[in-house]
Amino acid sequence: MKKTVKSLIAVIFAAVFLITLLPFAFAEEINETTQDPGTSTVEFDENKFGDINEDGKRTAGDARLLLRCAVELEIITDHILIHGDYDKDSQITSGDARVALRVAVGLESVFCILKGHEIMPAVIEPTCTTEGYTTNKCSRCSFADGSKTDILPVKEHELQNSTTQATCTEDGIFTSECSVCGHIAQRDIVEASLGHSFGIWEISGAIKSKTCKRCGFTEESDKIKTVYLTFDDGPGPYTEKLLGYLREYNVKATFFVTNQMPRYRYLLSQIVNDGHAIGVHSLTHQWSIYSSSNSYLNDFNAMHQIILDETGVDTKIFRFPGGTNNTVSRSYSRGIMSSMSKSMLEWGYNYYDWNVDCYDTAGYSSSRIAQATINQIKGRNTSIVLMHDIKNTTVEAVKEIIRFGLDNGYEFAAIDESTPLVRFSPVN
Ligand SMILES: [Zn+2]
Ligand SMILES: [Zn+2]
Ligand SMILES: [Zn+2]
Ligand SMILES: [Zn+2]
Repeated sequence: MKKTVKSLIAVIFAAVFLITLLPFAFAEEINETTQDPGTSTVEFDENKFGDINEDGKRTAGDARLLLRCAVELEIITDHILIHGDYDKDSQITSGDARVALRVAVGLESVFCILKGHEIMPAVIEPTCTTEGYTTNKCSRCSFADGSKTDILPVKEHELQNSTTQATCTEDGIFTSECSVCGHIAQRDIVEASLGHSFGIWEISGAIKSKTCKRCGFTEESDKIKTVYLTFDDGPGPYTEKLLGYLREYNVKATFFVTNQMPRYRYLLSQIVNDGHAIGVHSLTHQWSIYSSSNSYLNDFNAMHQIILDETGVDTKIFRFPGGTNNTVSRSYSRGIMSSMSKSMLEWGYNYYDWNVDCYDTAGYSSSRIAQATINQIKGRNTSIVLMHDIKNTTVEAVKEIIRFGLDNGYEFAAIDESTPLVRFSPVN
């Protein structure tokens, strides 16, 4: 009985032993069958060298595959080992991938790698930026051995000069540029851009528009109601305060100036610096300026020169003392207003009268001046308001007028070339 038990245990041990080993034997058998029996027969083929994906071309795709093999993301087969081992060190590394890429982009020829370069002397022509030389260069690929003989100096640029005309928005520019390499030897602004030369605002429906007389550019605005505040006879003791009020509301106005109070002459530059328009009214504001065209011009020119000296502005706008339709000039010289208004326009000076009078010469209070002005502004698209900044009442009326305007959709502007012309016909 004891003997039987012993042999039974031996049999069980043997069985367990066999069952444990069986999977290993089976696994080995599987491994043998997964090996590709064909790969070991791959032979080197010069035309397939480097063409890893066998599409008949050597491209960056081949280089990419080699790189995957080098980092073992892809299995290296004998085929790849034979046809991708550019440096023939019997392994696929990133170095092979790099060379494959050089082949793909034509820096190297696969035949040069297999058989060596076909070195021939080559002349590299000089350019404007690089010198020329003779080097030993491969006739098949771009390989050069780095030797340089027969150095040829850098060529001179082939400079071509051109000048563009200044336009409204672009500077006039002189350019000297190499026609071969594009190098710019010289580039100078010969004339600053001209700025648009607008015609007068035209109102059409709810839009006003002005068009450049030079280039046709049109600017539009939906602020069709415009008030041009104009101040005559200053600068004087209240002008500085007025400039402060205008600054407070960011309103631009126009000053037709005189030299009646020379101690306030320093305000001329402040008027211009604040962005207001400045024009000639008169040096002296004496009616005797209308004695002759010469006496008028002497007075005008002297004031024009003071403005130029103080502000640098060569103003082209002015207002006749008393307005173009004054009759007081008749007792000094018959027909002087007719002839002067015509001549001044011919000489390029533009005069502006007014269509709103604030009546500050009638001794009105500030509130009455403001009310009279507001009443006339209402219902007008364009108001050119006659005011005098040598009167404190006028200056104090300005805030109320501005507040009314801003609250009711009016735009305040300084006179410029786009301001609609308001001119009286001369009666003398
Ligand atoms: Zn070569
Ligand atoms: Zn050049
Ligand atoms: Zn223009
Ligand atoms: Zn005046």
